[in-house]
Amino acid sequence: MLQELQKKLLEHSVSIVVTLLTGLFLLAGKEIMVLLSPQVLDKLPKKAALSLFLLSLLVNCIMCAWVIILYRSRQLTLRFGLYWDKDLNPYCPVCQSPLGAYGDYMTGRGFNCIKCNEIVLITAPDGSNPTLPETIRLLRP
Ligand SMILES: [Zn+2]
Repeated sequence: MLQELQKKLLEHSVSIVVTLLTGLFLLAGKEIMVLLSPQVLDKLPKKAALSLFLLSLLVNCIMCAWVIILYRSRQLTLRFGLYWDKDLNPYCPVCQSPLGAYGDYMTGRGFNCIKCNEIVLITAPDGSNPTLPETIRLLRP
């Protein structure tokens, strides 16, 4: 429940930041246009200025969409004590880095996190330590 709330808050915070950045870009563009207007806009045809404005708006929208797509493609879900992406690749629950080798270590079955230098165990909700194929089977919808 708390993790879903954190996930939704993070998802909306990215949208808020992108919206604020878009507003900031528009405000900065407006201020720059006011500063440049006596010198540049008199010489620049209005059709060209409108085209430049629309082009910059289009580029800004594409960049915002790209940021959102990149963010959504990397969304991780915490299950079995590990984070998983949509392709069921495991990530460290501490540093959220991709995990290294899977194996049956002395403490149980799990992965090696190269960044944390720790063994991260696969832990089922009942406390058991399932194998990777069992975990993948349970994670598939
Ligand atoms: Zn780690």
